[in-house]
Amino acid sequence: MTGETRNGLTYPFERVPEPGEALHFAPGVYWVRMPLQLTGLNHINLWLLADNTGWTIVDTGMASAEIQGHWKSIFATYCGGKPLKRVMCTHFHPDHMGLAGWLRDETGCHLLASRLEWLYGRMFSLDPATETATSALEHYRKIDMPAAHIAHLQRVRDNDYAQCVTTVPEQYIRIRDGDVLNFGDYDWVVIVGTGHAPEHACLYCEKLNMLIAGDQILPRITPHIGVYPDEAEANPLQDYMDSLERFRRLPADVLVLPAHNEPFFGLHARLDALIDHHDERLNLLEAALAEPKRVSETIDVMFRRTLKDHEIDLGFAEALAHLNCLIEQGRVSREADAAGVWRYRRVTTAMPSLGA
Ligand SMILES: [Zn+2]
Repeated sequence: MTGETRNGLTYPFERVPEPGEALHFAPGVYWVRMPLQLTGLNHINLWLLADNTGWTIVDTGMASAEIQGHWKSIFATYCGGKPLKRVMCTHFHPDHMGLAGWLRDETGCHLLASRLEWLYGRMFSLDPATETATSALEHYRKIDMPAAHIAHLQRVRDNDYAQCVTTVPEQYIRIRDGDVLNFGDYDWVVIVGTGHAPEHACLYCEKLNMLIAGDQILPRITPHIGVYPDEAEANPLQDYMDSLERFRRLPADVLVLPAHNEPFFGLHARLDALIDHHDERLNLLEAALAEPKRVSETIDVMFRRTLKDHEIDLGFAEALAHLNCLIEQGRVSREADAAGVWRYRRVTTAMPSLGA
């Protein structure tokens, strides 16, 4: 396969699948692409794995009639009358688990997921809350979110997960790090990553030399790492960077199949770039905190631009992830001002005295 090389990564495919198409590119492996309406992201990549008796889908797309229609035409066109046996979700985010419930109801297939991803998906899909919790609004005040945005969140619920998914099934098959899933002639090993999602499952097939990476490793965008009101003291960025190290043992020439953008070669270069990116952000933020700042004031340092309305939640969550990481590394401290708003300051270590 030849292909285009950009930033040290090689993209071997000359085209992407059309909606409703399953692009066959390796024994028993098909690439499916579904539409998505997220800021800067108009698609998600899903994978269809064949074995002798049926099919496994990896990730589902968001819940919508359009995507359900695409799945129906894919089953009719490509699946040769063999049943859908399993839907495996890398993680609980709605573009990945959104149609697991519908696929199970339609076909009787089993849902495979790690326990934490299933629990989160099941919990959020059943959450009946119609408004944002008081404790969450309190959190948004501590991080100094713009008052108009907090007022907006007070009017609409901040968790619209249930709107984007069909109810996550009440039953699943647990997969764990190191488990081997057999699909026909091929074994796929589960490799769990953390940080972007609590127990994100990737799949690696040694024989095919391919890694289904989900959102854990993306080639052109950095996976979102955020801290939210439900776990305000979390440090997912350290989790993320630590868990990336687990992928270094894979061969340098593995083909990475990411959930967004295109399949690529250059895993190790990408791991370096992702870690460098966050290290650089941490250093930048630490330097800027020589003068104490609120979370809102770190947004300019982090993003070097004003965030649009729909970017505010993600942007603040991402800034907080970097701040919590710096706190845990002992490089930054946090205190609340008289109004209860958090301020962050660089920890200055005393210069060692020279001589007597
Ligand atoms: Zn995700």
